[in-house]
Amino acid sequence: MSATLQVPTGTGCLDAPVLRERGQREVFCGLTGIVWLHRKIQDAFFLVVGSRTCAHLIQSAAGVMIFAEPRFATAIIDERDLAGLADANDELDRVVAQLLARRPEIKLLFLVGSCPSEVIKLDLSRAAERLSQTHMPDVRVLNYSGSGIETTFTQGEDACLAALVPIMPRIAAGAQPSLLVVGALAEVVEDQFRRMFAAMGIERVSFLPPRRSVDLPGVGPDTVMLLAQPFLADTARALEARGATHLSAPFPLGEEGTTAWLHAAAESFGVPAARFAMATDPSRQRASAALAVAQKKLAGKRIFFFPDSQLELPLARFVSRELGMKLVEVGTPYLHRDHMTPELALLPQSTFLSEGQDVDRQLDRCRAARPDIAVCGLGLANPLEAEGITTKWSIELLFTPIQGYNQASDLAELFARPLLRRTKLAV
Ligand code: SF4
Repeated sequence: MSATLQVPTGTGCLDAPVLRERGQREVFCGLTGIVWLHRKIQDAFFLVVGSRTCAHLIQSAAGVMIFAEPRFATAIIDERDLAGLADANDELDRVVAQLLARRPEIKLLFLVGSCPSEVIKLDLSRAAERLSQTHMPDVRVLNYSGSGIETTFTQGEDACLAALVPIMPRIAAGAQPSLLVVGALAEVVEDQFRRMFAAMGIERVSFLPPRRSVDLPGVGPDTVMLLAQPFLADTARALEARGATHLSAPFPLGEEGTTAWLHAAAESFGVPAARFAMATDPSRQRASAALAVAQKKLAGKRIFFFPDSQLELPLARFVSRELGMKLVEVGTPYLHRDHMTPELALLPQSTFLSEGQDVDRQLDRCRAARPDIAVCGLGLANPLEAEGITTKWSIELLFTPIQGYNQASDLAELFARPLLRRTKLAV
Protein backbone atom coordinates (compact mmCIF):
# COMPACT_ATOMS: atom_id res chain seq x y z
CA MET A 1 0.00 0.00 0.00
CA SER A 2 1.28 3.46 -0.77
CA ALA A 3 1.20 6.14 1.92
CA THR A 4 -0.44 9.24 0.46
CA LEU A 5 1.75 12.27 0.05
CA GLN A 6 0.03 15.17 1.73
CA VAL A 7 1.49 18.39 0.41
CA PRO A 8 0.00 20.93 2.85
CA THR A 9 -1.44 23.99 1.21
CA GLY A 10 -2.13 26.24 4.23
CA THR A 11 -0.24 29.40 5.05
CA GLY A 12 0.56 28.33 8.62
CA CYS A 13 2.27 31.22 10.35
CA LEU A 14 3.65 32.85 7.19
CA ASP A 15 1.86 36.07 8.11
CA ALA A 16 2.26 35.76 11.87
CA PRO A 17 3.89 38.69 13.66
CA VAL A 18 7.54 38.19 14.62
CA LEU A 19 9.02 39.64 17.81
CA ARG A 20 12.37 41.13 16.77
CA GLU A 21 14.90 41.57 19.56
CA ARG A 22 18.33 43.15 19.42
CA GLY A 23 19.96 42.79 22.81
CA GLN A 24 22.53 40.68 24.57
CA ARG A 25 22.91 37.24 23.02
CA GLU A 26 24.13 33.90 24.35
CA VAL A 27 25.77 32.12 21.43
CA PHE A 28 28.87 30.11 20.54
CA CYS A 29 31.09 31.19 17.68
CA GLY A 30 31.54 29.56 14.27
CA LEU A 31 34.72 27.74 15.26
CA THR A 32 32.43 25.06 16.71
CA GLY A 33 31.59 23.86 13.19
CA ILE A 34 35.11 22.46 12.87
CA VAL A 35 34.05 19.65 15.20
CA TRP A 36 31.70 18.11 12.65
CA LEU A 37 33.30 19.47 9.47
CA HIS A 38 36.70 17.87 10.10
CA ARG A 39 35.00 14.48 10.45
CA LYS A 40 33.14 15.02 7.22
CA ILE A 41 35.92 16.21 4.87
CA GLN A 42 38.46 13.54 5.57
CA ASP A 43 41.49 15.00 3.78
CA ALA A 44 41.04 18.54 5.15
CA PHE A 45 42.81 20.23 8.03
CA PHE A 46 41.41 23.21 9.94
CA LEU A 47 44.05 25.56 11.30
CA VAL A 48 42.47 28.15 13.56
CA VAL A 49 44.50 31.33 13.72
CA GLY A 50 43.48 32.46 17.15
CA SER A 51 44.10 32.72 20.85
CA ARG A 52 44.33 30.22 23.69
CA THR A 53 40.60 30.79 24.27
CA CYS A 54 39.89 29.61 20.71
CA ALA A 55 42.10 26.55 21.27
CA HIS A 56 40.24 25.72 24.49
CA LEU A 57 36.87 26.07 22.81
CA ILE A 58 37.77 23.66 20.02
CA GLN A 59 39.49 21.18 22.27
CA SER A 60 36.68 21.02 24.78
CA ALA A 61 34.01 20.80 22.07
CA ALA A 62 35.92 18.00 20.32
CA GLY A 63 37.60 16.53 23.41
CA VAL A 64 37.03 12.96 22.36
CA MET A 65 39.35 13.31 19.40
CA ILE A 66 42.60 13.67 21.29
CA PHE A 67 43.47 9.98 20.93
CA ALA A 68 43.80 10.29 17.15
CA GLU A 69 45.99 12.47 14.94
CA PRO A 70 43.57 15.38 14.91
CA ARG A 71 42.81 17.33 11.77
CA PHE A 72 42.40 20.65 13.50
CA ALA A 73 44.72 22.82 15.54
CA THR A 74 45.21 26.39 16.64
CA ALA A 75 48.11 28.61 15.64
CA ILE A 76 48.22 30.77 18.75
CA ILE A 77 48.49 34.50 18.31
CA ASP A 78 50.50 35.60 21.34
CA GLU A 79 51.31 38.93 22.95
CA ARG A 80 54.21 39.60 20.55
CA ASP A 81 51.86 39.26 17.56
CA LEU A 82 49.21 41.40 19.23
CA ALA A 83 51.79 44.09 19.99
CA GLY A 84 52.96 43.98 16.37
CA LEU A 85 56.45 42.83 17.45
CA ALA A 86 56.46 39.71 15.30
CA ASP A 87 55.42 39.24 11.70
CA ALA A 88 52.37 37.03 12.05
CA ASN A 89 52.53 36.09 8.35
CA ASP A 90 56.06 34.71 8.67
CA GLU A 91 54.98 32.72 11.71
CA LEU A 92 51.96 31.39 9.87
CA ASP A 93 54.04 30.32 6.84
CA ARG A 94 56.43 28.48 9.15
CA VAL A 95 53.63 26.70 11.06
CA VAL A 96 51.88 25.68 7.82
CA ALA A 97 55.10 24.35 6.26
CA GLN A 98 55.79 22.27 9.39
CA LEU A 99 52.25 20.96 9.49
CA LEU A 100 52.13 19.93 5.83
CA ALA A 101 55.55 18.28 6.01
CA ARG A 102 54.29 16.14 8.91
CA ARG A 103 50.87 15.40 7.42
CA PRO A 104 51.24 14.52 3.73
CA GLU A 105 47.68 13.12 3.61
CA ILE A 106 46.24 16.63 3.92
CA LYS A 107 44.95 17.92 0.59
CA LEU A 108 42.96 20.93 1.73
CA LEU A 109 43.96 23.35 4.44
CA PHE A 110 41.52 25.87 5.88
CA LEU A 111 42.95 28.89 7.65
CA VAL A 112 40.14 29.71 10.04
CA GLY A 113 39.94 33.30 11.20
CA SER A 114 38.99 34.20 14.77
CA CYS A 115 38.29 37.33 16.83
CA PRO A 116 42.02 37.81 17.63
CA SER A 117 43.10 37.40 13.99
CA GLU A 118 40.50 40.00 13.05
CA VAL A 119 41.62 42.33 15.83
CA ILE A 120 45.18 42.37 14.51
CA LYS A 121 43.79 42.62 10.97
CA LEU A 122 45.63 39.56 9.76
CA ASP A 123 44.55 39.18 6.14
CA LEU A 124 43.94 35.44 5.92
CA SER A 125 42.61 35.54 2.37
CA ARG A 126 45.96 36.90 1.17
CA ALA A 127 47.76 34.41 3.38
CA ALA A 128 45.69 31.59 1.87
CA GLU A 129 46.51 32.75 -1.67
CA ARG A 130 50.21 32.99 -0.86
CA LEU A 131 50.28 29.59 0.83
CA SER A 132 48.30 27.99 -1.99
CA GLN A 133 50.94 29.19 -4.46
CA THR A 134 53.63 27.64 -2.29
CA HIS A 135 51.92 24.30 -1.64
CA MET A 136 49.87 23.64 -4.80
CA PRO A 137 49.33 21.19 -6.44
CA ASP A 138 49.69 18.98 -3.36
CA VAL A 139 47.62 21.14 -1.03
CA ARG A 140 45.08 23.85 -1.64
CA VAL A 141 44.75 26.52 1.04
CA LEU A 142 41.46 28.35 1.66
CA ASN A 143 40.25 30.62 4.41
CA TYR A 144 37.05 31.54 6.19
CA SER A 145 36.10 33.28 9.39
CA GLY A 146 34.83 31.39 12.43
CA SER A 147 34.88 34.43 14.67
CA GLY A 148 31.70 35.46 16.24
CA ILE A 149 30.35 37.63 18.91
CA GLU A 150 27.52 38.46 16.54
CA THR A 151 27.18 35.12 14.77
CA THR A 152 25.66 31.74 15.52
CA PHE A 153 27.78 28.63 15.83
CA THR A 154 26.36 27.05 12.68
CA GLN A 155 27.53 29.99 10.56
CA GLY A 156 31.00 28.43 10.66
CA GLU A 157 29.74 25.68 8.35
CA ASP A 158 28.10 28.24 6.08
CA ALA A 159 31.35 30.22 5.84
CA CYS A 160 33.39 27.05 5.22
CA LEU A 161 31.11 25.78 2.43
CA ALA A 162 30.87 29.23 0.87
CA ALA A 163 34.69 29.22 0.71
CA LEU A 164 34.55 25.99 -1.30
CA VAL A 165 32.08 27.29 -3.91
CA PRO A 166 34.56 29.34 -6.01
CA ILE A 167 36.82 26.31 -6.51
CA MET A 168 34.02 23.91 -7.52
CA PRO A 169 34.51 22.79 -11.14
CA ARG A 170 32.28 24.55 -13.65
CA ILE A 171 29.63 22.50 -15.44
CA ALA A 172 28.85 24.17 -18.77
CA ALA A 173 25.27 24.99 -19.78
CA GLY A 174 23.40 22.24 -21.60
CA ALA A 175 24.64 19.41 -19.38
CA GLN A 176 22.29 16.78 -17.97
CA PRO A 177 20.55 18.22 -14.87
CA SER A 178 22.25 17.25 -11.64
CA LEU A 179 21.21 17.41 -8.01
CA LEU A 180 23.48 18.97 -5.41
CA VAL A 181 22.66 18.33 -1.75
CA VAL A 182 24.15 21.13 0.31
CA GLY A 183 25.05 20.85 3.99
CA ALA A 184 27.18 18.47 6.05
CA LEU A 185 25.31 15.26 6.75
CA ALA A 186 26.48 12.24 8.71
CA GLU A 187 27.75 9.55 6.36
CA VAL A 188 25.01 7.15 7.36
CA VAL A 189 22.39 9.76 6.39
CA GLU A 190 24.17 10.65 3.15
CA ASP A 191 24.26 6.97 2.16
CA GLN A 192 20.53 6.60 2.84
CA PHE A 193 19.69 9.61 0.70
CA ARG A 194 21.96 8.38 -2.08
CA ARG A 195 20.12 5.05 -2.12
CA MET A 196 16.76 6.81 -2.14
CA PHE A 197 17.65 9.12 -5.04
CA ALA A 198 18.99 6.10 -6.94
CA ALA A 199 15.74 4.21 -6.30
CA MET A 200 13.84 7.18 -7.76
CA GLY A 201 16.06 7.13 -10.84
CA ILE A 202 17.89 10.40 -10.08
CA GLU A 203 21.38 9.49 -11.17
CA ARG A 204 23.54 12.60 -11.00
CA VAL A 205 23.61 13.39 -7.29
CA SER A 206 26.47 14.95 -5.34
CA PHE A 207 26.96 16.32 -1.87
CA LEU A 208 28.63 19.47 -0.61
CA PRO A 209 30.86 19.13 1.35
CA PRO A 210 32.26 15.95 -0.20
CA ARG A 211 33.98 13.32 1.94
CA ARG A 212 37.26 14.06 0.17
CA SER A 213 38.15 17.51 -1.07
CA VAL A 214 39.51 16.03 -4.30
CA ASP A 215 35.93 14.95 -5.11
CA LEU A 216 34.53 18.46 -4.97
CA PRO A 217 31.33 18.41 -7.11
CA GLY A 218 30.78 20.64 -10.11
CA VAL A 219 28.17 23.39 -10.42
CA GLY A 220 26.51 25.16 -13.32
CA PRO A 221 23.19 26.38 -14.76
CA ASP A 222 21.80 22.84 -14.85
CA THR A 223 22.49 22.20 -11.17
CA VAL A 224 19.54 22.14 -8.80
CA MET A 225 20.34 22.34 -5.13
CA LEU A 226 18.51 21.03 -2.13
CA LEU A 227 19.59 22.48 1.18
CA ALA A 228 19.99 19.81 3.85
CA GLN A 229 20.63 22.41 6.58
CA PRO A 230 18.77 25.64 7.25
CA PHE A 231 21.77 27.84 8.04
CA LEU A 232 23.47 28.05 4.65
CA ALA A 233 22.38 31.44 3.34
CA ASP A 234 25.83 32.55 2.11
CA THR A 235 26.62 29.19 0.51
CA ALA A 236 23.26 29.12 -1.28
CA ARG A 237 23.83 32.67 -2.54
CA ALA A 238 27.30 31.76 -3.83
CA LEU A 239 25.94 28.66 -5.59
CA GLU A 240 23.12 30.67 -7.15
CA ALA A 241 25.70 33.15 -8.42
CA ARG A 242 27.33 30.19 -10.19
CA GLY A 243 24.04 29.26 -11.85
CA ALA A 244 22.51 26.72 -9.47
CA THR A 245 18.75 26.79 -8.81
CA HIS A 246 17.46 26.41 -5.27
CA LEU A 247 14.64 23.92 -4.70
CA SER A 248 12.36 25.25 -2.02
CA ALA A 249 11.38 22.55 0.48
CA PRO A 250 10.98 21.87 4.18
CA PHE A 251 14.16 20.44 5.72
CA PRO A 252 14.54 16.65 6.00
CA LEU A 253 13.63 16.29 9.67
CA GLY A 254 10.97 13.76 10.60
CA GLU A 255 8.89 11.63 8.27
CA GLU A 256 6.92 14.53 6.86
CA GLY A 257 9.89 16.85 6.36
CA THR A 258 11.98 14.10 4.73
CA THR A 259 9.16 13.16 2.38
CA ALA A 260 8.51 16.76 1.34
CA TRP A 261 12.26 17.34 0.85
CA LEU A 262 12.68 14.23 -1.30
CA HIS A 263 9.49 15.09 -3.14
CA ALA A 264 10.88 18.49 -4.15
CA ALA A 265 13.77 16.69 -5.88
CA ALA A 266 11.42 14.08 -7.38
CA GLU A 267 9.21 16.79 -8.89
CA SER A 268 12.15 18.68 -10.30
CA PHE A 269 13.53 15.54 -11.96
CA GLY A 270 10.11 14.34 -13.22
CA VAL A 271 10.03 11.17 -11.11
CA PRO A 272 6.63 9.44 -11.59
CA ALA A 273 4.45 9.32 -8.45
CA ALA A 274 4.45 5.51 -8.41
CA ARG A 275 8.25 5.37 -8.50
CA PHE A 276 8.50 7.96 -5.73
CA ALA A 277 6.08 5.93 -3.63
CA MET A 278 8.01 2.72 -4.29
CA ALA A 279 11.28 4.37 -3.24
CA THR A 280 9.96 6.00 -0.08
CA ASP A 281 6.94 4.09 1.24
CA PRO A 282 8.70 1.37 3.26
CA SER A 283 10.92 3.90 5.03
CA ARG A 284 8.02 6.29 5.57
CA GLN A 285 5.92 3.60 7.14
CA ARG A 286 8.76 2.51 9.45
CA ALA A 287 9.40 6.12 10.47
CA SER A 288 5.71 6.76 11.14
CA ALA A 289 5.44 3.65 13.29
CA ALA A 290 8.52 4.64 15.32
CA LEU A 291 7.21 8.19 15.76
CA ALA A 292 3.85 6.92 16.98
CA VAL A 293 5.71 5.36 19.92
CA ALA A 294 7.61 8.58 20.64
CA GLN A 295 4.43 10.60 20.37
CA LYS A 296 2.98 8.77 23.37
CA LYS A 297 5.78 10.21 25.51
CA LEU A 298 5.79 13.71 24.08
CA ALA A 299 2.28 14.71 22.94
CA GLY A 300 1.02 17.74 24.83
CA LYS A 301 4.44 18.65 26.30
CA ARG A 302 5.24 22.35 26.04
CA ILE A 303 8.52 23.31 24.36
CA PHE A 304 10.40 26.62 24.21
CA PHE A 305 13.13 27.22 21.60
CA PHE A 306 15.89 29.72 22.35
CA PRO A 307 17.61 31.07 19.21
CA ASP A 308 20.90 29.22 18.72
CA SER A 309 21.46 26.73 15.90
CA GLN A 310 19.07 28.08 13.22
CA LEU A 311 17.48 24.62 13.24
CA GLU A 312 14.70 25.93 15.47
CA LEU A 313 11.95 26.39 12.87
CA PRO A 314 12.26 22.97 11.21
CA LEU A 315 12.51 21.36 14.65
CA ALA A 316 9.44 23.22 15.87
CA ARG A 317 7.52 22.07 12.80
CA PHE A 318 8.61 18.47 13.46
CA VAL A 319 7.78 18.38 17.17
CA SER A 320 4.42 20.10 16.75
CA ARG A 321 3.15 18.21 13.71
CA GLU A 322 4.66 14.78 14.22
CA LEU A 323 4.96 14.55 18.00
CA GLY A 324 2.00 16.67 19.08
CA MET A 325 4.13 18.98 21.25
CA LYS A 326 2.90 22.50 22.05
CA LEU A 327 5.10 25.39 20.95
CA VAL A 328 5.50 28.07 23.61
CA GLU A 329 7.99 30.25 21.71
CA VAL A 330 10.12 29.54 18.67
CA GLY A 331 13.19 31.75 18.67
CA THR A 332 15.58 31.87 15.74
CA PRO A 333 18.78 33.91 15.41
CA TYR A 334 17.78 34.97 11.87
CA LEU A 335 14.61 34.46 9.92
CA HIS A 336 15.65 33.75 6.35
CA ARG A 337 12.23 34.00 4.73
CA ASP A 338 13.26 32.59 1.34
CA HIS A 339 14.58 29.38 2.84
CA MET A 340 12.01 29.20 5.63
CA THR A 341 8.77 29.76 3.71
CA PRO A 342 7.93 26.03 3.48
CA GLU A 343 8.59 25.64 7.22
CA LEU A 344 6.57 28.69 8.21
CA ALA A 345 3.68 27.41 6.10
CA LEU A 346 3.61 24.23 8.18
CA LEU A 347 3.79 25.77 11.64
CA PRO A 348 0.57 26.37 13.59
CA GLN A 349 -0.94 29.77 12.87
CA SER A 350 -0.68 30.81 16.50
CA THR A 351 3.09 30.14 16.81
CA PHE A 352 4.91 32.81 18.82
CA LEU A 353 7.97 33.56 16.65
CA SER A 354 10.94 35.62 17.79
CA GLU A 355 14.05 36.63 15.85
CA GLY A 356 17.33 37.70 17.45
CA GLN A 357 17.70 37.84 21.18
CA ASP A 358 17.55 39.96 24.27
CA VAL A 359 18.54 37.17 26.58
CA ASP A 360 17.22 38.50 29.90
CA ARG A 361 13.83 39.31 28.48
CA GLN A 362 13.64 35.96 26.78
CA LEU A 363 14.64 34.15 29.98
CA ASP A 364 11.85 36.03 31.78
CA ARG A 365 9.34 34.83 29.18
CA CYS A 366 10.62 31.28 29.57
CA ARG A 367 10.42 31.41 33.37
CA ALA A 368 6.90 32.80 33.21
CA ALA A 369 5.77 30.12 30.74
CA ARG A 370 7.42 27.20 32.65
CA PRO A 371 7.73 24.95 29.55
CA ASP A 372 8.27 21.21 29.99
CA ILE A 373 11.49 21.52 27.99
CA ALA A 374 13.65 24.35 26.64
CA VAL A 375 16.04 23.90 23.70
CA CYS A 376 18.98 26.23 24.22
CA GLY A 377 22.71 26.78 24.02
CA LEU A 378 25.13 25.43 26.62
CA GLY A 379 25.40 28.79 28.37
CA LEU A 380 21.72 28.85 29.30
CA ALA A 381 21.22 25.17 30.05
CA ASN A 382 22.71 25.02 33.56
CA PRO A 383 20.94 28.11 34.92
CA LEU A 384 17.62 26.88 33.52
CA GLU A 385 18.13 23.38 34.91
CA ALA A 386 18.93 24.93 38.29
CA GLU A 387 15.56 26.67 38.12
CA GLY A 388 13.82 23.37 37.44
CA ILE A 389 13.37 23.75 33.69
CA THR A 390 14.42 20.70 31.67
CA THR A 391 16.75 21.55 28.79
CA LYS A 392 18.10 20.10 25.58
CA TRP A 393 21.41 21.41 24.25
CA SER A 394 20.85 22.62 20.73
CA ILE A 395 24.45 21.78 19.80
CA GLU A 396 23.66 18.07 20.23
CA LEU A 397 21.34 18.37 17.25
CA LEU A 398 24.40 19.09 15.11
CA PHE A 399 26.56 16.31 16.52
CA THR A 400 23.87 13.64 16.11
CA PRO A 401 22.57 12.24 12.80
CA ILE A 402 18.94 13.51 12.79
CA GLN A 403 17.99 13.88 9.13
CA GLY A 404 16.05 11.31 7.13
CA TYR A 405 13.56 8.54 7.85
CA ASN A 406 15.79 6.19 9.82
CA GLN A 407 16.81 8.97 12.19
CA ALA A 408 13.30 10.35 12.85
CA SER A 409 12.76 8.37 16.03
CA ASP A 410 16.30 9.16 17.28
CA LEU A 411 15.45 12.82 16.82
CA ALA A 412 12.26 12.39 18.85
CA GLU A 413 14.28 10.58 21.54
CA LEU A 414 16.56 13.60 21.87
CA PHE A 415 13.55 15.47 23.26
CA ALA A 416 12.10 12.54 25.23
CA ARG A 417 15.30 11.62 27.08
CA PRO A 418 15.79 14.80 29.13
CA LEU A 419 12.13 14.66 30.20
CA LEU A 420 12.54 11.05 31.30
CA ARG A 421 15.72 11.92 33.19
CA ARG A 422 13.91 14.73 35.01
CA THR A 423 11.09 12.34 35.96
CA LYS A 424 13.57 9.82 37.33
CA LEU A 425 15.40 12.49 39.33
CA ALA A 426 12.10 13.66 40.79
CA VAL A 427 11.22 10.18 42.15
S1 SF4 B 1 34.40 33.94 20.19
FE1 SF4 B 1 36.27 34.68 19.19
S2 SF4 B 1 37.89 34.54 20.77
FE2 SF4 B 1 36.15 33.32 21.48
S3 SF4 B 1 36.65 31.23 20.81
FE3 SF4 B 1 35.37 32.16 19.19
S4 SF4 B 1 36.81 33.06 17.71
FE4 SF4 B 1 37.97 32.63 19.61
